[in-house]
Amino acid sequence: MIERAVEVLSGRKRILVFTGAGISTESGIPDFRGPQGIWKRFDPADYTYDRYIADPGFRRESWGKRFRSPYLDAFPNDAHHAVTRLWESGHLIGCVTQNVDGLHVASGLAPEALVELHGTANRIHCISCGDEPEFGEIEQRWESGEEDPACHRCNGILKTTIVYFGEDLPMDATRRAWDMAEQADAVLVIGSSLSVYPAAFVPLDVVDRGHPMVIINRGKTDHDFRAAVLIDGTAGEIVPTLVDRLTGSE
Ligand code: NAD
Repeated sequence: MIERAVEVLSGRKRILVFTGAGISTESGIPDFRGPQGIWKRFDPADYTYDRYIADPGFRRESWGKRFRSPYLDAFPNDAHHAVTRLWESGHLIGCVTQNVDGLHVASGLAPEALVELHGTANRIHCISCGDEPEFGEIEQRWESGEEDPACHRCNGILKTTIVYFGEDLPMDATRRAWDMAEQADAVLVIGSSLSVYPAAFVPLDVVDRGHPMVIINRGKTDHDFRAAVLIDGTAGEIVPTLVDRLTGSE
């Protein structure tokens, strides 16, 4: 199957990579719907934007989870690094990720190549005035006892940029994602069930424009039937091999 993916993708210089939680499971971060998935332990209905705004107790709990996250020490794995290599070798139009773990950034992927469509746990903003304080500054205030730190500029509510249920996607990220989809000549999906919308419309838009989609995912996705090539397997093994073949560095 890798052979077939190489055939389909080689010669293309505007591939759009679309990643989901599955690319980060080998870094120790659980996905949503796998056997260790987050929704086996938490109820998505509890994680709404409206609740965050209305309930200071929920905000205190959210900051505690953020600054005591067991995933703070996660490192990018071979699949993240391979995506970065593909960008550096001039094969990508960019990478749109649904992930909020910052591992594409940590793998050295250039900011202009990356769209974090669902925000990131590593940036904080004020929902009233838009101020973006340094992450470390807020962490320090939290460590010194401010359980729900307020914006120093306008006293508004601070929040990580992670998109909560019921919250709009960030406008700039949305525009950039659709621009990339419009310019892409193929799409490579890595570790996503393609079941979260509107994010899943990004790779599907590339397909709608007549370009091929290659999917590397453990298990089924909701759009397997639209893939030119489907590789059911582990991202950390398959993506580096595919990238080696495409960049001729095997
Ligand atoms: P998902 O959980 O719906 O799907 C992940 C898919 O990846 C599953 O089909 C799973 O079988 C597959 N998978 C798991 N490990 C894999 C591996 N090593 N190699 C290949 N495939 C693997 O995730 P999604 O499609 O990204 O959508 C759900 C939402 O999850 C997104 O909105 C995202 O914001 C959020 N999320 C993000 C993180 C993160 O930032 N790491 C973690 C959990 C959820």
